[in-house]
Amino acid sequence: MSSSEEIVDHSQIVNNPLESPAVGDSRVSCTIDLSAEGKQFGTLGVPRSSNQWSDLTVPIVSVANGVGPTVVVIGGVHGDEPEGQVAALNLARTLQPEQVTGRVVVVPCASPEGSKAYTRTWPSGIDFNRSFPGDPWGREDEQLAEFMSTELFPISEVVVDIHSGGRGGLHLPWSEMHWVDDPDQRRAMVEGMVAWNTDWCCVYMDIGGTGLLVGEAERQGKNVISTELGGGGHVTAEIHRLAASGLANVLRHVGVLEGEVVQRESPPTFLMATELDCFVRAPESGLFETLVALGERVETGQPVGKIHFIERPDREPETAYARNDGIVCVVRAVATCEQGDNIVVVAREVDRAELN
Ligand SMILES: [Zn+2]
Repeated sequence: MSSSEEIVDHSQIVNNPLESPAVGDSRVSCTIDLSAEGKQFGTLGVPRSSNQWSDLTVPIVSVANGVGPTVVVIGGVHGDEPEGQVAALNLARTLQPEQVTGRVVVVPCASPEGSKAYTRTWPSGIDFNRSFPGDPWGREDEQLAEFMSTELFPISEVVVDIHSGGRGGLHLPWSEMHWVDDPDQRRAMVEGMVAWNTDWCCVYMDIGGTGLLVGEAERQGKNVISTELGGGGHVTAEIHRLAASGLANVLRHVGVLEGEVVQRESPPTFLMATELDCFVRAPESGLFETLVALGERVETGQPVGKIHFIERPDREPETAYARNDGIVCVVRAVATCEQGDNIVVVAREVDRAELN
């Protein structure tokens, strides 16, 4: 039969645009077999039309050996947070199957074009951490999010998502979690958070919208372990070491990596930033002067920052005040600010028992 006489079976066409995608019908290609044993380096390809007509390419690595938990490790959801990307790249390169019981899937840099630009958002302006659970026929960020939500999270018991304050915020280096209602899930997440061995552990709320990666993984009942390891646009050697040692200890803690779990000599300080009052906003646009340091205890009503007006030397700066007692855990790292920008976060110190 000549080609002109061929009968096209449309049911065999992948991603026929005339058909609606079903849930889990990801359009993202993956060059490795996530069910295979051993170590594989590959890529995820997110279809798109660009000037170069090239897929968005996101590296993925799988290291699997025998029966055990599956852990997904994701770095670089935000491009200006290199701490997690470096730790995940080191892990992906060096981890060997014989060290693993179960499976470790690493996406070292989930936002490669944001990483290259050293920006929190993608060049399109999209914050990938607001793209979940995603959409197989949505924007490219939504397609990638949907792949993670339907292909990576369901096969995993543990999801590790490594963040920092990025260029915009200087954070105390902490491991963190959302408050989740299920007590068993919450207990596992508290233990995972503590296993990072940071001096600070923080339970937080979202103030910047919905669609977070961790939120979708939590909704699926996973043990979700995340961090905010410093930030401010610069990473010290100490923070890189904390990212690497904490990640390895979490993997040992959940039983996927060989070796003894390292325990802290003293418990960490537990913080909660789960009320809007914890987040101090700039009362006006201007030039921000911080009056407090990370780790400093402050009281309700205490001045924490001033906003200066570069065109008005005659004008008194506007003062921003703490709205609760607690410990300063975030200070804005960029001096210029717009009205409503988050400039300081004051978290409440709590006993671990409050997290039970
Ligand atoms: Zn982040």
